[in-house]
Amino acid sequence: MSARRFILLGPPGAGKGTQSQRLVADLGIPQISTGDLLRAARKAGTSLGQKAQSFMDAGQLVPDALIFELVEERLAQPDAAAGYILDGFPRNVTQADEMVGRRIAVERVVLLDVPTDALVARLSGRRVCGQCGATYHADTFPTRLEGVCDACGGAVAQRKDDRAEVVAQRLEVYAKETSPLIAYYASAGTLRRVDGFESADTVYASILTALSA
Ligand code: ADP
Ligand code: ADP
Ligand code: ZN
Repeated sequence: MSARRFILLGPPGAGKGTQSQRLVADLGIPQISTGDLLRAARKAGTSLGQKAQSFMDAGQLVPDALIFELVEERLAQPDAAAGYILDGFPRNVTQADEMVGRRIAVERVVLLDVPTDALVARLSGRRVCGQCGATYHADTFPTRLEGVCDACGGAVAQRKDDRAEVVAQRLEVYAKETSPLIAYYASAGTLRRVDGFESADTVYASILTALSA
């Protein structure tokens, strides 16, 4: 049986969002991306979104309490009853521990491994649809029409935090705060490593194997 409640773990730019899009379509379970939920809250101008703003723009983690507010609300929606792909959450050991306390089930953790140089190139070229969240790359995975989403026709642009200065900061935060989760889930026995420095198709096949193995 393939896991249906799992985490995609990996540094910014590892391909979590790209792979989630495919997994959602094939497995019929929702992607829960705390980054997407935060950006939606900011766009909607909620007080949570306003509180998160300065942390995100600086490439720092948003306070855990705000993250759990978003995640709990999303998990309560009916589509999450069949399973979920957690993308970008948990982001530190405190969040992982708190998930256990709140009984948020995790059957598998798939780590996407990508060398740091490649991450910088991926993030600097990343372009995202403001309407549906589809992810592209200016050089390696462009939209058919410049600036227009293939999937929904929305406007495609660079994220503010994908500029070089903030990217360096986010990679540092990953190394310091998020990467300890690798040992955390390895000792729990749920971790599977996938080489994320391959074509998106190859990575996808490895993820499916990791979910069933
Ligand atoms: P994450 O969600 O982990 O931050 P994304 O899925 O947004 O990462 O991918 C970051 C950038 O890298 C995007 O521009 C995406 O198009 C590109 N990308 C994703 N997977 C691959 C891959 N296997 N090979 C090359 N580029 C990729
Ligand atoms: P990426 O796709 O590049 O990995 P995300 O979209 O997941 O980045 O996250 C963007 C920003 O949102 C992060 O830099 C951080 O400020 C905030 N964020 C997202 N998820 C979390 C989380 N689980 N805990 C704390 N902050 C988060
Ligand atoms: Zn779109």
